Amino acid sequence: MSLMVVGTVAFDAIETPFGKTDKIVGGAATYIGLSASNFYDKINLVSIVGEDFPREAIEMLNKHKVDTQGLQIKANEKTFFWSGRYHTDMNTRDTIETQLNVLENFEPIVPESYQGCECLMLGNLMPSIQQKVLNQLKKRPKLIVLDTMNFWMDNFIDDLMLALKNIDVLTINDEEARQLSGEYSLVKAARKILSFGPKNIIIKKGEHGALLFNDKEVFYAPALPLEEVYDPTGAGDTFAGGFISHLCATKDYSFENMKRAVIIGSAMASFCVERFGTERMRGLSLSQVNNRINKFVELVNFNIKTV
Ligand code: AMP
Repeated sequence: MSLMVVGTVAFDAIETPFGKTDKIVGGAATYIGLSASNFYDKINLVSIVGEDFPREAIEMLNKHKVDTQGLQIKANEKTFFWSGRYHTDMNTRDTIETQLNVLENFEPIVPESYQGCECLMLGNLMPSIQQKVLNQLKKRPKLIVLDTMNFWMDNFIDDLMLALKNIDVLTINDEEARQLSGEYSLVKAARKILSFGPKNIIIKKGEHGALLFNDKEVFYAPALPLEEVYDPTGAGDTFAGGFISHLCATKDYSFENMKRAVIIGSAMASFCVERFGTERMRGLSLSQVNNRINKFVELVNFNIKTV
């Protein structure tokens, strides 16, 4: 049994009020894989990079239990590149540049050994590619989670609407939920987006936590109040990696267990933002992870008597 992860493996250039990076290794699937590796052993990656992508970064992923047999390396081509600048509040950012490069003609190939996966994480990527991966699977995974962003809503909305039809959980941020639904209230936005197909939706609100909805219930998880947030890049993907790997490891896809998964995702995201890029996500220890999850339990634990 395995967790299959599809998404970008990328170079990022990031600017925050704390500093600036040159091209560093990033990408949705990179963050998802690193985060998931804390809870699950068999992570299978489907993605693409150019020949400029460093071998050490692939080895780093392998060291974190990410199988890269499904990672295509294209000779004479360049890796996907994204650059972004965060505003002072660190909750909002502008994309400065997106160079699709190898993604432009990416035909994903699911290796035979990846068939029969328990869960599928369709990380942020062109919606038609997410769909192509799903179409190659001989058996529907028990859980399909899809993450996307405004870039794909702006440019490929029809493909995205198609991809939403057959998924179990959609994860997007508050701004994107408003864009996708045309509703300002997040409750109304969630309801409308659920009518597009996903059985559950998670709306991420950055430092204000995350909301999980199905058609009957709502759950809210706070974000850990941190003294310093250096770089929010990848927080959403890291969240998704923690969320899906907990569900995949426990094989319990109930709403109750999704609540726990949201807390785990939030705990992992709180690590991610503490350093630039993927630095904080490399080599976390089990006790660091457990301590952080316990901090969440303490944060929201209280006794109350109703009057
Ligand atoms: P997040 O901060 O969780 O939204 O994810 C940031 C990561 O997403 C970065 O490492 C980027 O390489 C990657 N990324 C940025 N734009 C896109 C896009 N349009 N499609 C897929 N991945 C992207």
